Amino acid sequence: MMVLVINCGSSSLKYQLFEMETEAVWAKGLVDRIGSDKAILTHKAAFKEETTITTSLRDHNEAIRMVLDALVDQKFGAIESLDEIWAVGHRVLHGGQKLSDSILITPEVIDVIEECSELGPLHNPANLQGIYACTELMPGVPQVAVFDTGFHQTMAPHAYLYGLPFEAYEKYGVRRYGFHGTSHRYVSGRAASLMGQRDDLRIITCHLGNGASLAAVRNGRCIDTSMGFTPLEGLVMGTRCGEIDPAIVSYLMKKTGMTPDQMDDYMNKKSGLLGLSGISNDVRDIEEAALGGNERAQIALEVYCYRIRKYIGSYAAAMGGVDAVIFTAGVGENSITMRRRICHGLEFLGLKLDPEKNSVRGKEQEITVEGSSVKAFVIPTNEELVIARDSVKICSAFEQYERKPNLALVSNFG
Ligand code: ADP
Repeated sequence: MMVLVINCGSSSLKYQLFEMETEAVWAKGLVDRIGSDKAILTHKAAFKEETTITTSLRDHNEAIRMVLDALVDQKFGAIESLDEIWAVGHRVLHGGQKLSDSILITPEVIDVIEECSELGPLHNPANLQGIYACTELMPGVPQVAVFDTGFHQTMAPHAYLYGLPFEAYEKYGVRRYGFHGTSHRYVSGRAASLMGQRDDLRIITCHLGNGASLAAVRNGRCIDTSMGFTPLEGLVMGTRCGEIDPAIVSYLMKKTGMTPDQMDDYMNKKSGLLGLSGISNDVRDIEEAALGGNERAQIALEVYCYRIRKYIGSYAAAMGGVDAVIFTAGVGENSITMRRRICHGLEFLGLKLDPEKNSVRGKEQEITVEGSSVKAFVIPTNEELVIARDSVKICSAFEQYERKPNLALVSNFG
């Protein structure tokens, strides 16, 4: 049983083809610079050579067409016919308050994803493009949407409401939504398995990539997370500022004459590790500069780690304690020194890092000493696998699902 997982960004598209009996990846790739005449497809099927094609691609429809061609290509492909694809799973950024669980895509679901475009203006329209393209090119194949916001919908009002007039929430939907939900769900689930699925397990998951967020997960349910109404809130990230005094926004706009869009750009693309260090948004570059004695690089790393430590402390307070801290994504899985810096000072909680076990990269492993009352683990995330598993679960539940062109969808999108 083959499931194709698609993650459409505004000008890119990542995909993985899973064989679900073994959960093996049969092919994966990336299309970059969609919408230009220099779009690039990088495609690799298991046991085959990688191929790269540069071409002109107008939109996501053309990009998906190219991906499907690559999947059945005689030399570089992974399957003989597109009929072998049993379901398609899409990563969708925003499901708002209406869509929390993964769901079979129907015209009604599309309407809600469209409604939520206001909340995820860069991503939801691109996600929809991917859905439209698959509907047209694989009309009989069921599609499932898995939401980045989904896992966080279990938060209680005291965690998701801001201290603004209540009408901001009621009229405009201003609340904490949280992102990276599929990753937090996957690694907290893995951690629970590794810890023997005890009752009342309190886990803090640290997804530290270019974008970064923490989540407090009690008994498998998210009770709080650091990203908010948008992915800008919370931690200091690669290029995002994270939490700041909101009064800074109007102060800087008045001082510099920045427009709202320019201010948005300033906080999303020019801040964080990049803005603080003046070097790069990549932790590897900053670590190297810090080692060489660059003071701004050193302070950038300190600010980054201090903020994470503070959140870990606050989430331990929110859950009345913590049993495990999980590190995942680019920085969390790979940076030995950042994990050491973050955990330094958390001994009072009962978390004692084992320097030897901590010298691991990209591999699932416990990294605390024997007997540490709070455990820490490195758990590589796998959002695509979660999307593929959800797709199988949801499509299997529709036993009566008719594998014929979904005319309602097709006519909806012309
Ligand atoms: P994204 O949020 O784009 O999915 P990733 O989870 O792939 O990001 O994380 C990318 C980031 O991970 C890089 O910008 C870099 O800071 C960090 N990273 C990757 N490998 C290492 C490493 N070996 N050491 C330190 N940081 C790393």
